[in-house]
Amino acid sequence: MNVVITGANRGIGLELVRQCRSRGDVVHAGVRAPVHAAELTGLIRGAGGRLHVHTLDVADPASVRAFAMGLPGPVHLLINNAGVRSRPDELSDLDGDDLTRTFQVNAVAALRVTVALLPQLRAAGGAKVANLSSNLGSIADNSWGGAYGYRMSKAALNMATRSLGHDLKEDGILAFALSPGWVQTDMGGSEAPTAVDTSVAGLLAVLSRLRPEDSGGFFDFEGKCIPW
Ligand code: NDP
Repeated sequence: MNVVITGANRGIGLELVRQCRSRGDVVHAGVRAPVHAAELTGLIRGAGGRLHVHTLDVADPASVRAFAMGLPGPVHLLINNAGVRSRPDELSDLDGDDLTRTFQVNAVAALRVTVALLPQLRAAGGAKVANLSSNLGSIADNSWGGAYGYRMSKAALNMATRSLGHDLKEDGILAFALSPGWVQTDMGGSEAPTAVDTSVAGLLAVLSRLRPEDSGGFFDFEGKCIPW
């Protein structure tokens, strides 16, 4: 299986690369700056030619175009993992530019990468697109407020996923919004209850179980359906 993972130099993205590589996938890892991705590039040795590292800034349309043009098909699984969490993100100190940047990276860029890779996804005949969302993107689950830019961007990503589920049906491409839980990464912090390997193992297991009738849905890393 050929897998594309964005934001692959650290955190959940890097662990996705590790676990996909271990199970025998051919992995195309997109990172902003390969020269600063030593942990990722260190995995190339021992990957038997199955790990390819590409320059990819998902927020830069020219970078996404160049990445797509250089990517061989088919792509069986696209994981739109790259994301940012704006801080501070509370009502008292909102920053408009930061809000816009968060929206661009977390929502617009995932859609842009998906559209750019449609030829490779179509070529797979039954590809899956996984958008890394968050429980904080659930409107139904928002019981304490705050996290404006992050919540808004992930809610928008969820809506994009829902539409992709409809629009890509005829191409046989399935789309899912997945929440990894609260995970120990730079973004999640050390107090997060879920280890990154546990979250990623769960995400990959859920992805392999999801079926056409689940497309456009929102699931957590244990497979539970999350309310919008
Ligand atoms: P990290 O902050 O640890 O890593 C974020 C990754 O995204 C980095 O590799 C970063 O690259 C990359 N990235 C950011 N902007 C861009 C860009 N413009 N182009 C390419 N890559 C970019 O986050 P996590 O690993 O924790 O999160 C991964 C995903 O999971 C995100 O979408 C996040 O929102 C989501 N998530 C995480 C949770 C958690 O608890 N950790 C909870 C819920 C959702 P660089 O090093 O260049 O900045």
